[in-house]
Amino acid sequence: MYHAIRNESFHFLVRKALTGKTFLALFVATGCANRNAGPTSSNDSWARASLNATAWVQTSEEYRGMAFSAYNQAKEQLDHARFDPNWTALPEQEGKDIDKLPLAVILDVDETVLDNSAYQAWIVLNKQQYSPETWDNWCSKIEATSVAGSPEFIKYTNEKDVKIFYLTNRNFADSQGRELEPKTIKNLKEVNLLPDQSFSDGELTFFNSAGVEIILNNAVLMKNEFIDWGSDKTSRRTLIAQNYRVALLLGDSLGDFTGYRTEGRSEDVYKALNPDAINDEMNNHSGRWGKSWIILPNPTYGSWERSLFGFMDDIPPNRKAALKESRLAPWKP
Ligand SMILES: [Mg+2]
Repeated sequence: MYHAIRNESFHFLVRKALTGKTFLALFVATGCANRNAGPTSSNDSWARASLNATAWVQTSEEYRGMAFSAYNQAKEQLDHARFDPNWTALPEQEGKDIDKLPLAVILDVDETVLDNSAYQAWIVLNKQQYSPETWDNWCSKIEATSVAGSPEFIKYTNEKDVKIFYLTNRNFADSQGRELEPKTIKNLKEVNLLPDQSFSDGELTFFNSAGVEIILNNAVLMKNEFIDWGSDKTSRRTLIAQNYRVALLLGDSLGDFTGYRTEGRSEDVYKALNPDAINDEMNNHSGRWGKSWIILPNPTYGSWERSLFGFMDDIPPNRKAALKESRLAPWKP
């Protein structure tokens, strides 16, 4: 029932607003939090660059300790939010009439609740690079495990009747148009990250920026599921803010918390701004970290890394490595 509603409006919107060329570009756009989408040719030094980061995530107790810390803190901060009717994680909700809205938490999926380090380890050991094809294949196997502490946190939110929403940059459909969402939902359920939540009438009815009604039947909001749901998650956060007071944002990437907004458009802060401007922008939010913004460590990939080579995903690996090295600030003895 719901799928009919959603897909109908999805295709209606697509037909209405996109040319065929743009439509194709949308579907072949990469998922997985905009990871490196370069060529898949072997390159030992490039693959090895991820060795330390991947080994740290997969083997160190320090990584698990940080993840547990984040989720312990999230529980504590959720309690603050529950008893403070004006508490919100969204700057746009501050000062607004939000005290009567039900409470929700917004989480990212990859490297926030789902641990995809096995895919990363496959890349390192087989001298591969990220590609949408291998990533979709990994996702369809439903082998991602949970990040330490995340299932307990989800259980806690459910016990307190706080709704959860997942905003993920996994693609809604693959390049053939096949829906990928059921695989992600199945994986989340199998590792106790997606509880059965009850929603009252109208709770999952929203309106996009064009005033078009959007009805959801699940709490997983994927990239390109609707027309204005691009890589930047701002439009999806704004949607949730219509019906919920957002207690916490949890993620491993700056884009899980904020985007750079200009003239009605928003995009990745790392893409929009130079390093100094990013610094200034983030100083405005410094008081949110550890309070309503809870961040998980991810040294293996992200916009922070792609920004080092100017988001030029298709340049050769050795060129990327050189650009990354040029951004280091070395000791000059
Ligand atoms: Mg992520």
